[in-house]
Amino acid sequence: MTTVDLPLLPLGRGRDAGSERGVECPGDLPSASDPDLVARARAAKEALGERVFVLGHHYQRDEVIQFADVTGDSFKLARDAAARPEAEFIVFCGVHFMAESADILTGPSQQVILPDLAAGCSMADMARLPQVEDAWDAMADAGIQDVVVPVTYMNSSADIKAFCGRNGGVVCTSSNAEVALEWAFEQKGPDSKVLFLPDQHLGRNTAVLKMGYTLDDCVVWNPHLPGGGLTPDQLRDAKVILWKGHCSVHGRFSPAVVDELRATIPDVQILVHPECTHEVVLKADLVGSTEFIIKTIEAAPAGSSWAIGTELNLVKRLADAHPDKKIAFLDKNVCYCSTMNRIDLPHFVWAMESLVAGEVVNQIQVDPDTERDALVALQRMLDLPGKSDKD
Ligand code: SF4
Repeated sequence: MTTVDLPLLPLGRGRDAGSERGVECPGDLPSASDPDLVARARAAKEALGERVFVLGHHYQRDEVIQFADVTGDSFKLARDAAARPEAEFIVFCGVHFMAESADILTGPSQQVILPDLAAGCSMADMARLPQVEDAWDAMADAGIQDVVVPVTYMNSSADIKAFCGRNGGVVCTSSNAEVALEWAFEQKGPDSKVLFLPDQHLGRNTAVLKMGYTLDDCVVWNPHLPGGGLTPDQLRDAKVILWKGHCSVHGRFSPAVVDELRATIPDVQILVHPECTHEVVLKADLVGSTEFIIKTIEAAPAGSSWAIGTELNLVKRLADAHPDKKIAFLDKNVCYCSTMNRIDLPHFVWAMESLVAGEVVNQIQVDPDTERDALVALQRMLDLPGKSDKD
């Protein structure tokens, strides 16, 4: 087994095509203090008309989301883009892996644009193809590779989705992780095991809280340790091999703050995303995807109290949209997705005005081999019974 030394690059500096990290944007960005940015964005959008379709992820800034033709989670947005074949340009206000998924699911004549190439995802970056191939080799050495089914969360790079497609695996979302795991455990008979990438928390919360596996059934593969930090016996004994990745936003919520809020806000209901740690999810009243969180708040009675553990832009918008409900954020500190928030109005205006001028900037293109294999894993997800959407 080889150990790959992977350089850490500051976001936006230098080229690191093998990961979610991008490169600095070429050209001149408008100044953030330009008072005409909103008018310029509006004019560019009007000039492009039906040729452009703007997608805005739920965690995106207000200043950008106001220009989105549709908002949603990553998978819904990719499907929305695929349903608009007449749009030449898909401007994806989200992060890199989402734009890759949109490129995979849209037609060859459609061009997907990410307004800031440095808008990556720290979770997706935690599982890189050479590391995953190392782990796969270790599973062969331990004699278990034939019974391991790789399952990757939508929040992963295209080459990890392609790895799953090539190796009998599947993509999942936070809504269908349980169905995807059930499917995976059926693929290799009673000895089946799952390698869950890249979010250990979604994998653990699904396996233990929804499917009845125990914490002892799960091991964590640490790509920064030789052999993943596991012995061959530990690999052989495990049912679920969790990748040591996490979301830097949802990983911040703590059980102590849940206790504090319960002590200070009468009847508060704790609503969290399954990317939160197992300890936080155990203390929550309700757990679900961003779409689940939105629908839960929409359906909640006036006067009800909620503390929500997901990205702050979304929580703020929910609080603004539902002034009749008491909505608190489940952390004392500001907790934005910093990479998603790199897509600001200057980058959006720059990308849109470049399109008006006939120049396609920051196009995200997945190579044909990766796209073919990733589509296999995505199609397996679409073929799963039940719901297939939501990040
Ligand atoms: S919220 Fe977490 S998982 Fe989602 S894009 Fe940001 S870092 Fe990635």
